[in-house]
Amino acid sequence: TEGRSRYCFFTPDMDRDVRSREKSYRDLRLALADCDRQLMLYYQPIHDLNDGRMVGVEALLRWWHPERGLMGPAGFIRSAEESGLIEVLGEWVLRQAVRDARQWPDLRVAVNVSPTQLRSRQFVDMVRQVLSEAGLAPQRLELEMTETALMAASGEVARALSELRRMGIACALDDFGTGYSSLSHIRDFAVDRIKIDRSFVNVVDTDAGAALVEAIVSLARANGLCLTAEGVEAQEQHEFLRRVGCHEVQGYLLSPPVPASQISRMLQGRETH
Ligand code: C2E
Ligand code: CA
Ligand code: CA
Ligand code: CA
Repeated sequence: TEGRSRYCFFTPDMDRDVRSREKSYRDLRLALADCDRQLMLYYQPIHDLNDGRMVGVEALLRWWHPERGLMGPAGFIRSAEESGLIEVLGEWVLRQAVRDARQWPDLRVAVNVSPTQLRSRQFVDMVRQVLSEAGLAPQRLELEMTETALMAASGEVARALSELRRMGIACALDDFGTGYSSLSHIRDFAVDRIKIDRSFVNVVDTDAGAALVEAIVSLARANGLCLTAEGVEAQEQHEFLRRVGCHEVQGYLLSPPVPASQISRMLQGRETH
């Protein structure tokens, strides 16, 4: 019984969890080896609120899983983080996005960066190399990072951030409002842009929600930051955001994320109209 009790914490359930985790790591490794077929970037247009023009796109990762079909990042980014594969995956994303961006000379391309990537010592050099290999101006690239990423290991991350910005790459604070800090922390983040989270855009039809978004916009503007609102689904939200002085919008109202070819088509349509 002694020997038994030593192992009793290892239940069949946990065994299954470990196995399924190992399978998802293995699948992800296979996807990276077969990236041309299994991985793909979709792009969601970002529009200027003043003149309505498309000014940028956000790259959003998709995975054509051989058994499970099309998967969004919610289904695998965490397992990429846990397995350590996020660095290779993130580099693939950046390289692909920078390559695609060359066909859209007027657009800024925004790429999501995970906390692990940002903490990695090689990150800044990797970004510099990917840009120079593709011949893309750093000013065309924006990196989106969450508050969690910016808070973690402050010293190194702060150094990486200032080096990236010195190169001319813009940095955006993603999902603003969902993290730990209060409004007044806006000025403490060394970023160029704030992305207002969808959960706030969703409630601008309430007095409290409207007041909150208005406060975020005015505080950010007072600190010289650009603002993009995410998850804009309704015309009323769009109008509200323009009225309070938000700079850019992104959301299903304008377009869902689409394949690169469709972005090119949208830009062509714009030229001929
Ligand atoms: P995010 O960076 O906040 O990206 C916006 C998410 O909102 C996307 O989900 C997008 O499809 C969705 N969205 C856009 N407009 C609307 C709208 O009007 N309404 C609603 N309800 N949703 C909208 P997606 O593509 O599933 O990505 C989920 C998250 O996965 C992203 O959230 C980002 O945090 C992460 N992610 C995506 N691509 C990458 C990547 O290449 N690397 C890393 N590290 N994370 C990524
Ligand atoms: Ca993002
Ligand atoms: Ca976001
Ligand atoms: Ca989000």
